[in-house]
Amino acid sequence: MSPVRAVLALGSNLGESRSTLADAVAALADHPGMKLVGVSPVARTRPVGGPENQPDYLNLVAEFETSLDPHALLDHCHDIENRHHRTREVRWGPRTLDVDIITYGTVHIDDEDLTVPHPRAAGRAFVLQPWAWMDPDAMLDGVPVAELAARAPDLSGVELFEGE
Ligand code: ATP
Ligand code: MG
Ligand code: MG
Repeated sequence: MSPVRAVLALGSNLGESRSTLADAVAALADHPGMKLVGVSPVARTRPVGGPENQPDYLNLVAEFETSLDPHALLDHCHDIENRHHRTREVRWGPRTLDVDIITYGTVHIDDEDLTVPHPRAAGRAFVLQPWAWMDPDAMLDGVPVAELAARAPDLSGVELFEGE
């Protein structure tokens, strides 16, 4: 199989989020079927959905060239989440690490375990804005990512994270 470009979105709002994200990008790339192509700046974002009063998130987007098929890539993402003790108690609740597949080439998938492109990505500035910072010409299903970011309802809650 020839390698495919996949865009992954990572988020964290529990624990040492900045180092979790850096470790997770390195761990995702540390696989024979994965090659890191690019990584976005980190965004600090206000939570979207889920319980009131959860902490702000740090988010980034990373692009890989992968020879994994989509489900094997999802398994790999879950492995890395599990290494960071990801738990799922409340939908959209606070988490040490979330790794979502945003796109897998231009492939469309919709089955029990996997929907690609990610069904909520086109309306999420916390995904779209870091993606547009990384790749100003990126497209999602034929629409410029920067344009989608500009229209996303949560855009005002997204800022560049410069460390603290
Ligand atoms: P959201 O999907 O709205 O970002 P979430 O990331 O918090 O919410 P999770 O608990 O991480 O949701 O994932 C729930 C399930 O979603 C996973 O077990 C996985 O099988 C499924 N899923 C479907 N499509 C995708 C995708 N594109 N990327 C990651 N997980 C997906
Ligand atoms: Mg998610
Ligand atoms: Mg997820």
